[in-house]
Amino acid sequence: MKNENRVLPVTTDPDTAPFWAAAREERLVIKYCEECDRPIHLPRAYCPVCRRRSDVWRDASGSGRVYSWTIVEHQVHPGYPTPYTSVLVELADHRSVRLLGSLPGRVPLVGGEPVQVWFEHLENVTIPQWRLVEAGGA
Ligand SMILES: [Zn+2]
Repeated sequence: MKNENRVLPVTTDPDTAPFWAAAREERLVIKYCEECDRPIHLPRAYCPVCRRRSDVWRDASGSGRVYSWTIVEHQVHPGYPTPYTSVLVELADHRSVRLLGSLPGRVPLVGGEPVQVWFEHLENVTIPQWRLVEAGGA
């Protein structure tokens, strides 16, 4: 559903631009420190552990699990009609990385549900979104 009122991300910030460029190609990427081999999330110029500068991005599979969630009933912005279910997704192959997303409606979750990324192409930005998948499927 087209929604003109949505707030779109800034895609030109030097710390996050590669994330948005990869999303445009339908790839989910996570920034890594080459020195200590840890994800740098949220992405920033320097590793928070060893302080090395890093420009390394690695592909993620796009599979994850619902780590936490809340059902939003009170609408605070015209671009986000309620109800919707806000989810925090733990990535399957980068488990310390959790990304926010939302699912339409009131989704009866218990936690741990498998989800898969999909890419919503808008005019100037592609947004990674999540959908529930059957257990054992992808
Ligand atoms: Zn490091």
